[in-house]
Amino acid sequence: MPLNLRIPGPMPLPPDVLEATGRPMINHRGPEFADILDRMTRNMKTMLETSGDVYFMTSSGTGAMETAVVNVLSPGDAVLSVSIGVFGDRFGDIAEIYGADVTRYKTELGDAADPGDVSEALAAMPHCKAVLVTHNDTSTAVQNDIAALSEIIRNESNALILVDAVSSAGGSPLAMDAWGLDMVATASQKAWMAGPGIGIIAVSKRAWAAYETSTMPKFYFDIAQYEKFLEISQPPFTPALSTIYGLDLALQQLADEGIENVIARHAERAEQTRRGVQRIGLELLSDASVASDTVTAIKVPEGVDAKAVVTAMRDEFNVEISGGQGALTGKIWRIGHMGWCEPEHIDECIDALEKVLAQTR
Ligand code: PMP
Repeated sequence: MPLNLRIPGPMPLPPDVLEATGRPMINHRGPEFADILDRMTRNMKTMLETSGDVYFMTSSGTGAMETAVVNVLSPGDAVLSVSIGVFGDRFGDIAEIYGADVTRYKTELGDAADPGDVSEALAAMPHCKAVLVTHNDTSTAVQNDIAALSEIIRNESNALILVDAVSSAGGSPLAMDAWGLDMVATASQKAWMAGPGIGIIAVSKRAWAAYETSTMPKFYFDIAQYEKFLEISQPPFTPALSTIYGLDLALQQLADEGIENVIARHAERAEQTRRGVQRIGLELLSDASVASDTVTAIKVPEGVDAKAVVTAMRDEFNVEISGGQGALTGKIWRIGHMGWCEPEHIDECIDALEKVLAQTR
C-alpha cells in the first residue's frame, strides 16, 4: 500500500499523473515540448485567472519567490514584508539579501494579517515599492484575505503586490487580475497534483513596467529570458521534463474540472479535516475564519510528544503528517489536504491519529 502522505507538500500523485512522469525523455526544443509548454501556459493562466504572463522554471517554490523579488526591485527599494509565519519571513529575507530596505510587519503565529494594520504600515512608508505577502502560510495553516489586503494596498499606495501563493494557488480562490496582483509565485508539488521541481511565476503589466528599472542581479530567474524563449515555445534552460509531464496532465485535468469545482473540492476536504480533528477531541491552532483550504494545523495536547505521534502514525498506520516549524516545533501537527486528496485519505489519517493518541494516553 502506498504511503498516505499527508504532509503539506509534496502530495501523493493521482496514478495517471505518476505514470506520466515515467515517460521517455524528449527534445525540449522540439515540437512535442512546444505543445506541452503552450498547453501548460494556457491552463495555468486560466487557473490563476490572469491574462498576464506565466513562466515555468525548474526550481522549487522558493525559486519562484526569488523570481518575484529580483525582477521588479532594486537595492535600496523600500519594501513592506507582511509575515504571518515562516514563509512570510522567508519572502522578506530574500528581498533583504538582495539589498531591499525591508520593513517587517508580523502577526502572532496563528493569526492572519489585519488589513487595518497593513494600511497603517503603508501610511508610514510613502515610497513603498512593493508589498510581499503570503497567501497561505503553510507553517501555521493560516490564510490571508488577499482580496481585502490588495484592495487596501492598491487604494492607498502605488506599491506592487508580490504574492507567495505556493501552497494556495490551485486550491484556494485566487483571481490575479481582478485582485490587482503583480507577481504570483507557486510551485508544482502543492495543489497542482504534480511532483516537486517546477516553480511558476505569473507577471502583471505593472510588474513588467517595474522590470525595466529593476537593477537587482538576475540570470537564471530573469523573466525576460523566459519571455524571449516562450515566444518560440521553448524554455530558456533544460527543464525538469519528468515533472513537467505530470504537471501538464494534472493542469489539464484541473482545467477540465473547472476552477470553481477545484476550489469547492478543497474547501470540502478542509472542512472534513477540521471536523474530524475536533471530533477526536483536538483543538485547531486558528479560528475557522482564517483557516487554510489546503493544510490544517492542530494543537498538540499538553504532555503529548508530537514527534513520537508522527513516527507511530507512519510506522504503524502508513500515514505521514508533519509537525510544526520554527517556534511551533513540538506544538502543532499539520495535515495536508491539497491536490489529490480523497475523503478516505483524510478519514484514514484522522483515524490513525486517534488510535495513536489513545495508545499514548
Ligand atoms: N511558501 C510556502 C507558503 C510554502 O508552503 C513553501 C513550501 N512549503 C514555500 C514557500 C517554499 O517552497 P519550496 O520548498 O518548494 O521552495
